[in-house]
This record gives sequence, C-alpha cells and structure tokens, in this order.
Amino acid sequence: MDGATLSSLTIHEARSLLDGRTVSSVELTKAVLGRIEEVEDRVKAYVSVNKDLAIEQAEQADKRIAKGNAAPLTGIPMQLKDNMATRGVATTCSSRMLENYIPPYDATVTQRLYEQSAVLVGKGNLDEFAMGSSTENSAFFPTRNPWDLDRVPGGSSGGPAAAVAASECFYSLGSDTGGSIRQPASLCGVVGLKPTYGLVSRYGLVAFASSLDQIGPITKDVTDCALVMNAIAGYDPRDSTSLKVEIPDYTKSLGQDLSGLRIGVPTEYFVEGMEPGVESATRKSIEILGSLGAEIVETSLPHTSYALAVYYILAPSECSANLARYDGVKYGFSDREAETMWGALEQTRGRGFGPEVKRRIMLGTYALSAGYYDAFYLKAQRVRTIIRREFEQAFEDVDAIVSATSPTVAFELGAKTSDPVQMYLSDVLTLPANIAGIPGISVPAGMSEGLPVGLQILGRALGEHTIFRIAHALEQATDWHTRRPSL
Ligand code: GLN
Repeated sequence: MDGATLSSLTIHEARSLLDGRTVSSVELTKAVLGRIEEVEDRVKAYVSVNKDLAIEQAEQADKRIAKGNAAPLTGIPMQLKDNMATRGVATTCSSRMLENYIPPYDATVTQRLYEQSAVLVGKGNLDEFAMGSSTENSAFFPTRNPWDLDRVPGGSSGGPAAAVAASECFYSLGSDTGGSIRQPASLCGVVGLKPTYGLVSRYGLVAFASSLDQIGPITKDVTDCALVMNAIAGYDPRDSTSLKVEIPDYTKSLGQDLSGLRIGVPTEYFVEGMEPGVESATRKSIEILGSLGAEIVETSLPHTSYALAVYYILAPSECSANLARYDGVKYGFSDREAETMWGALEQTRGRGFGPEVKRRIMLGTYALSAGYYDAFYLKAQRVRTIIRREFEQAFEDVDAIVSATSPTVAFELGAKTSDPVQMYLSDVLTLPANIAGIPGISVPAGMSEGLPVGLQILGRALGEHTIFRIAHALEQATDWHTRRPSL
C-alpha cells in the first residue's frame, strides 16, 4: 500500500493492518508525514508538526504492538487542537499571547491518548482562543477547506477538521463551546462529536467559556469516533465539572437498526437563511432515518431563537474572566518596554490579543459590570434555564433531535470577516446544545454545490450511545463518509 492510501484509512482499518503486522506504526506515521509534506502548504491545518517526536512515539508503539498488548489507538497518528496542553510541545491557542508557551504538563486527554501509545503528529490551527467560526481569527494564518481551497474549513476547530478531511492525521481532538467541533466537521465532510458537558475532562484545555467548553473527537467515520470517545471519556478529579459516571463501550452502539427510536425534527431549526441545498440534504437524511425504522416526529423548541443572544452574553462574560490571567507576568507574551506596571499590562494585552478576542473581552466586561449585570448576565442565565428545560421536555417525548449542523456549506475566505454578526449566525444550530449541556454529533449527510453538508444529531445528557446508534445507521445506509476531497 502506498503512503497516500495508508494515510487515507480510518483508525479501525489501520488497526487491523497494525495488528496483522502488515504495516508498522512507523510506516503509518511516515505515510502521514508524507501526506502533510504533500498538501499542508495548501491546507495549513497545522500550527506545528513534530516529526522527530512522532517517529519516536511510533517506535515505542511498535514495541508495544510486538508485545501483543496494543490498545485500540496504539500507533495511530493523530493531531490535537492547539489549545490542549502537550508537555514539551508548544500550545499556542493560535495567539501571539501564547506563541512561545511550552506547557510543563499534559492535558488529561493528551495523557489518556498517550496511555494508549497514540502518536502525536502535531497541533491543529484554530481561531485565536477558539473564538470564531472560520479559523480566520488565527493569529498565524487561516486554514483552508480541503474541498475548495478558497473556502473556510469552519471553526474554531478548523485545523483539526481540515487535517482529518485531508488525511493529514487519522483523527484529531477539537473543543466545542458553541459549535467548534460540529460546524467545522460539517463543513469539511467529517464526523465531530461534542460530548455531554462534563463527560470528557478539560484539565489542560485552555479555558474559553468554562460553563460551555467541552472536548471531543473529529474523525473520518462514526466507528472511529466511538473508539476515540472510549479512550478520552471518564471521570477526572482534576476537573471540578467532571462527571462521575460509568462509561459504556460506545462501539456497542454501532450496527443496530433504529426500530423503537423516536426522532424529533424541530421546526425552528429550519432557520431563515438556510441554503436550499442544505435543507434538501437534511430532509433527505431524515427520510433515510425513517426508512431505517425510526419514527420521525415533529417537535418544537420555541426558545431556540434566543440561544444566540444568550450565548453572546455568557461566552464573552466567562471569557473576560478566564482571559484576565494573560497579564504578561504568569504566562506567555510580555511587553517589557513600558515604564509602569499598568503600561506593561496594557501593552501586553494590546499587542498579545487579536481583534476578535478583544471584542469578546470588552463585550463580557460590559455585560458583567455593575448596573448591567442584572440586565444582561443574570437575564441570560435565566433564559439559559428555560432553554435547558425545553430540551428536557422534548426528550421526554423523543430519543434524539436532528437538524442541519450549519445553515450553509463552507463559505469563501473573507466573506464574513467584516461582519461579526453574520459570522456568529454560523452557529445558530449548534450552540443550543452547549447552553443545555447535551451531546451532539455532526455526520456527513450529503453534498451541495460540491461541498459537504452535515446532519446534527442531539441527544439527552449522557445519551451518546443513542447518538452513535443513529449516526452509525445513517452512515451505513449512505456513502457520504467515504468521499474524500481531491487535493
Ligand atoms: N463560533 C463560536 C464562537 O465564536 C463557537 C466557538 C467555539 O465553539 N469554540 O464563539
């Protein structure tokens, strides 16, 4: 098998080659590094690639495989979004502020993957501090959509989604605060899961909005997604929001039909401005779910239209508090030229943060300030409770809720950069799940104008097994997930 073919495999395909000793992890890793060499100057999905480390880790993995105690991810080359701590490897958040920051520790997810002897190829590009929907807010360079290099890959996990779609890694981890795993997965034609809030530890994830942030897998298919979830989910005492729950084997949810399941279609999720091609692919996929045995029912989530407003109070408020730590003293970039302490603080933050991050900090600081707190933050919290209850009620009647993941396919670079509200609208269908803390997956579900469309499947809190069941059934009935961009 040549390098290009090797790198295009799924995790489970590569696993059987590794276990059958047809290929070694070193060969697999070299194939991925070769692929990166071939396409990365066009895609720009990586902030950094660590060849020597990857080969060294692959050699270790090969030793483990030789001993016969390989785990499901042993020896498989992967990428991590560059907001997850990797000991000895720069973790930049695609920000000038952390450009030279080398963490002295691993995030829990990094550690869990290392425990399986996974191979870290490099770190994925993102919108600075995960704020954005196109990866154009990266302080370094925008990532491009492998399906059309003039278009964005989505964001903020645009690097991870593009890298997986372009076969520059077997899988990646993203973070999702308002849609940052699902929306880029949808725009790049790959699978992305935002787990239930608290299911995957965020220890070592650079905080954006702590009541919304969650880490999850970005993969080529649903089986791979279940395999990565098996590795990263589970209680962690170092994350105070981590749930103490039993983790099922998610691969057990695969390969079942959908009989007995009720799937809700919320009328409010066919939003104004949705592209016709996205709407028709969504309706077609819902029909397929019906033909696979699920009962399709209409459901209503009338407060959906408030989700965006709630999110853009809560997320900036939390970010303004979380990002206060970047003062030039404790972490990262420090402007040493100013003469006074306040001057140094101002210069450090003025030069270290990009425009979108500053906009969010200002919005959040305003919403939290005395006199405005009740009018904005407190009110948003109340609406958050209403949205959460509305989902709970809906899930008394249905097992899952489906919609398009994004109202549009990938848009052109620069198309929305001058209009933040247009950019924010990219996430209208994904951010309710973060507000409610429930899980959601995006799976390839069609093409429109030659670009991928994703279907979003939302489940009850800790209902990942149901989401996997539906996602896998849809995948098996279609071939969208097998299509790869020609680069
Ligand atoms: N696009 C949304 C934002 O800009 C969500 C980002 C995310 O999920 N990290 O905030």
